[in-house]
Amino acid sequence: MKYMTAEPFRIKVVEHIGRSTRAERTGYLEQAGYNVFKLRAEHVYIDCLTDSGASAMSANQWSAMMLGDESYAGCRSFYRLEESVRDVFGLPYVQPTHQGRAADNFIGHIYMRPGKYVLGNMHFDSLRGVAEVHGAHAVDLVIAEGARGDSPYHPFKGNIDVDRMRQSIAELGADQISAVIITVTCNNNGGQPVSMHNIRAVSELARAHGIPVVLDSARLAENAWFIRCREPGYADRPVKDITREMCSYCDTAIMSAKKDALVNIGGLFVTRDETVFRQANQLAIMHEGFITYGGLAGRDLEALAVGLQEGCDESYLAYRTAQVSYLGEQLKARGVPIIEPTGGHGVYVDGRRFFPHIAQAQFPSQRLVVALYQEAGVRAVELGACAFGRRDPDTGADIWPALECMRIAIARRVYTNSHLDVIAAALGDIHADRDACRGLRLVYEGPITAMRHFTAGFALL
Ligand SMILES: *Cc1c(COP(=O)(O)O)cnc(C)c1O
Repeated sequence: MKYMTAEPFRIKVVEHIGRSTRAERTGYLEQAGYNVFKLRAEHVYIDCLTDSGASAMSANQWSAMMLGDESYAGCRSFYRLEESVRDVFGLPYVQPTHQGRAADNFIGHIYMRPGKYVLGNMHFDSLRGVAEVHGAHAVDLVIAEGARGDSPYHPFKGNIDVDRMRQSIAELGADQISAVIITVTCNNNGGQPVSMHNIRAVSELARAHGIPVVLDSARLAENAWFIRCREPGYADRPVKDITREMCSYCDTAIMSAKKDALVNIGGLFVTRDETVFRQANQLAIMHEGFITYGGLAGRDLEALAVGLQEGCDESYLAYRTAQVSYLGEQLKARGVPIIEPTGGHGVYVDGRRFFPHIAQAQFPSQRLVVALYQEAGVRAVELGACAFGRRDPDTGADIWPALECMRIAIARRVYTNSHLDVIAAALGDIHADRDACRGLRLVYEGPITAMRHFTAGFALL
């Protein structure tokens, strides 16, 4: 690995990013209701809101786009994509979608039923939204180490607690559980990977009860890389061998290609089940477009076919995970509390340990997001009381989540370590003066609670 963690690319095109003054940012925050989703991107210096669709494409991807076949049906670009997807997933049936949540919606139609349950490690927000809309209950069964921001090192904090899963099947009844959804990597608790051993055990248990297994695989390659680095027996296995083995334990895999497939738009619904594929085709025709383009232009299919392969490249993955871990080290050196180890696509700062004097009802992690933007023009995102908070359906009382974090997502191939140094310095300064920050009050939320972080408005306390 010596010399292997620096960028395996050089920069050919650059994009100017503007800076603003603290006074300007204070005004922008006020106008945005202290919700950074409502900021104009041009007012952001370093954008770590998400790793989704924010990747820099390669010269090979841009040149493939010129070869896009824009035929309505049966375009050459689809067959190229199909071959690339089969190579990485090892599954035969490929339905593209315009982005991941369209595939999530197919999962809702095909696998979810009102009043029934879907089990998982930690369901991604858009899947939880789909469950809410379909009247299904989404149950999180991540291991105890993954459910807290201050737990000690564990190599696979995204694992499902198999004993709790067995217990849930016994208590609810297998016929009440319509699917198990394994999210790789687990975004909600730090981009934490799931081990092959766990995927296999979960799949065996589900299959023994006739429950289908879905892999929510936006970060399939990063998860495979962690398996290779951390799980005995995988050190010499090619990444695509590992991705194919992961998929061998599932019936259907969905992917937001905006993550590990290194494209700005795109999604996939991939399955081994022909009946499920036919249902997905119908849903695509209804909601996305014809089967062979699924809501994407031919050029997008080309970029995705190439990006999926580049995302599995070992020198890229070594650099990628090393960059995220570099930011984690810089933050730890300044006393900033983070989830350890760092995961695949960002660093998660523990909002409760950062601001112990701010109660969860006053949104400590969102307060930190606001402080970081105000301090340095850096945009991160809350994954805590707002994003994961719920209300008791009977009493209406707030239920606060165990995890209370600010995610600093790192876009792929976009920022240098000097940008990350700015983030670390800014958070170090905020931490040194942390007692000066008070919390926030929620003044507005949208109609779907599981998605309220996108639309919420706040006031400073
Ligand atoms: C991003 C993501 C989605 C939703 O995909 P979009 O492309 O944003 O619509 C679903 N699941 C996971 C795990 C994701 O990371």
